[in-house]
Amino acid sequence: MENSCLFCRIVSGEIPATVVHRTETTVAFRDIDPKAPTHVLVIPVAHHADVVALAADPSAAADVLATAAAVAEKEGLTGGFRLIFNTGRDSGQEVFHVHAHVLGGTPLGPMLA
Ligand code: IMP
Repeated sequence: MENSCLFCRIVSGEIPATVVHRTETTVAFRDIDPKAPTHVLVIPVAHHADVVALAADPSAAADVLATAAAVAEKEGLTGGFRLIFNTGRDSGQEVFHVHAHVLGGTPLGPMLA
């Protein structure tokens, strides 16, 4: 838990969020500014700044992926979905607590259009 971290404060319940799925090690909640009909962020409870740091904790990384899959199922994303980890300045990462964006609910088009 890092007191200055927005997503650690969502994990602790200090900042409200619309949680759609929770496990012992992960939390999934709706993005405050959705870019698709389903836009959910999946985070590990443990603070890791980005996906590079998460990769050093294989168990947490696997749990994040499993929760993303569970969210896609719960949200009925039978046509598919996109999973994005923005990583570092050039990607536009804004929150430095690793999060997977689960996007779906409509055809998303080519990613790099
Ligand atoms: P990034 O650019 O990959 O770091 O994405 C950060 C995401 O967090 C953005 O899509 C924001 O809309 C989202 N976000 C920021 N603050 C909150 C919040 O308090 N609740 C839910 N989503 C948030």
